[in-house]
Amino acid sequence: MKKKSSLLSEQMSAQRKRLILLGFTSLALGAAITVQAVLLAEAVERIFVQRSSLASVAGILGALIGVMAARTLLSYGNGRIGLQMASSAKTSMRAAVLRKLSNASMPMSLRGQTGGKVSVALDAVDEADSYFSQYMPRMMEAAVIPVLILIMVFAQHLNSGLIMLATAPFIPIFMILVGLQTKNKSEEKFAQLAEFSGTFLDSLQGLVSLKLFGRAHLQQQAIERSSLGYRDATMGILRIAFTNTFMLESIVMLSIGIVALELALQLLVFKSLSFQTAFLILLLVPEFYSLLKNTGTAFHSGRTSMGAIRKVEELLAERSETEASLTNWQDGGENMDKTQQTEQMDPADTPGFADRSSIRMPPIIELRDVRFRYAPDSFELAVGSISFGAGEQIAIVGKSGSGKTTLLHLLAGLLKPTSGEVLVNGRPRWQMDEALWFDQVSYITQHPYIFAGTLAENIAIGASREVSRGEMVEAAKAAGLAVVADELELGYDTPVGEGGRGLSGGEKQRLALARAFLKRPAVILFDEPTVGLDLHTERVLQRSIAELAGSATMITVAHRLYTIRHADRILYMDDGVLLDSGSHEELLARLPQYAEMVNAQRKGGFA
Ligand code: ADP
Repeated sequence: MKKKSSLLSEQMSAQRKRLILLGFTSLALGAAITVQAVLLAEAVERIFVQRSSLASVAGILGALIGVMAARTLLSYGNGRIGLQMASSAKTSMRAAVLRKLSNASMPMSLRGQTGGKVSVALDAVDEADSYFSQYMPRMMEAAVIPVLILIMVFAQHLNSGLIMLATAPFIPIFMILVGLQTKNKSEEKFAQLAEFSGTFLDSLQGLVSLKLFGRAHLQQQAIERSSLGYRDATMGILRIAFTNTFMLESIVMLSIGIVALELALQLLVFKSLSFQTAFLILLLVPEFYSLLKNTGTAFHSGRTSMGAIRKVEELLAERSETEASLTNWQDGGENMDKTQQTEQMDPADTPGFADRSSIRMPPIIELRDVRFRYAPDSFELAVGSISFGAGEQIAIVGKSGSGKTTLLHLLAGLLKPTSGEVLVNGRPRWQMDEALWFDQVSYITQHPYIFAGTLAENIAIGASREVSRGEMVEAAKAAGLAVVADELELGYDTPVGEGGRGLSGGEKQRLALARAFLKRPAVILFDEPTVGLDLHTERVLQRSIAELAGSATMITVAHRLYTIRHADRILYMDDGVLLDSGSHEELLARLPQYAEMVNAQRKGGFA
């Protein structure tokens, strides 16, 4: 429960100045409302009861206009402050969500629906708006102005004050009852909306596969179901909102009626009240109730916002928990041998890691008793201890699903071992500055990320610095991408990625290589394409990769016999275990599975 309001209170304390200002403007607004009523009552009394001349009330009328103008300005001011609070709260919440999403570890990023996350980052944060722009200003007004009005009424006429005091609580009590109901409903609505966006986006991304496998119809039904669920949740909220408004109106009308009846009795029957006082009270009473009523509406939207803020909070908290569990073992989890831990974690030795020049590159990479699981009962990778020398060319082979990619991700530092360690030049990888490490590593996947932009921009992203056009073209040439660019009308300025020209498998690989050429990494992790490329492209890629690998430690998830044979060492993975490692000849001689795999390769099968 404590967690529930942490994001809100964080936002509130960041906005303390604006809240105080809001308090002051509300107080001034309250004063303006009461003064306006007093002046109006006075003017009416003089003109209609005392029949004074217009000239004698000119001063009062002038003051009345002034107060009305002030009231309008103050109302506007309150709205402005609310909007400013909302906009800065939304900016900071969205930044927090984005920060969390972009810092998330690989397994976290892969979990759940992409669309669901987009929905939280965009819609839930937007929905939080009304908490700051509506709820807070109205609540502040409700805390200050009705009290001022009540004091004024009590000072004038005790009975009316008592009636107002007695009927007023019904409004907040009613609001709270309805508000609690809508909060649950609004959380439900968000769950529905997130699911709906998720199903929709995930379906769009997989549209081609869905069509091919004849599943499009089923998916269409899933979208329909999910959109109907969302409709029902929204209608549920609207139903409560309408009933809520109707009930509030009724309570307000009834309360004003009771006060008016009492005033009429006092004025006409008991003649114990002057016209001016009765009129003043009649002016103030609707203000009093309309403020409370506004609060009711604001309360309702505030509750809806809270449901949304909770969603954002859950997303942030979920991630922090995973991060905590990931750092647990680093802080000396039971899985680690204590002596080994102190030996490796001597802080006096660490500063070298902050300094790029002191990292010997290409580095020696070691795995020490590394184990990894995606989830408690899932596939386990247990590679034990193994070391890769500086500049060594390693090929990882094995059946599909044997854990090759997982091992590559562990080496890249995209996944953290569940136990054991990845050491770089003898130091735990995680002690290194992440940016510094990734600056030395190129990971060439089968599906390089291509963002919407020009070809040139997509290449230049490879370097973590500004690159000149010349450098970019050089890298493209080295990767064999220049011939592709030359054939395009706009050359390197051709838009690619989303909304632009698509790239073929071979072109994507060359783009990834061009990025690597810009970086000149000390470690290359390469997920070799499983699909066959044409012979020419194959040659171009082989040549480029060989050139890149000349000055780097290269670890390849290999599918081509050519790559495997030319590796210094081959690691044979089987069901998450490193079965054997050695040169091509050694493995041929002693590992029947390897010989079988090579045979299958020769006949044109896949590893
Ligand atoms: P390979 O690259 O040898 O084909 P992977 O390393 O991709 O094998 O996968 C090894 C095992 O881990 C498989 O059983 C796969 O289902 C599982 N796996 C891969 N990625 C994930 C993930 N993100 N979450 C859970 N399990 C995964």
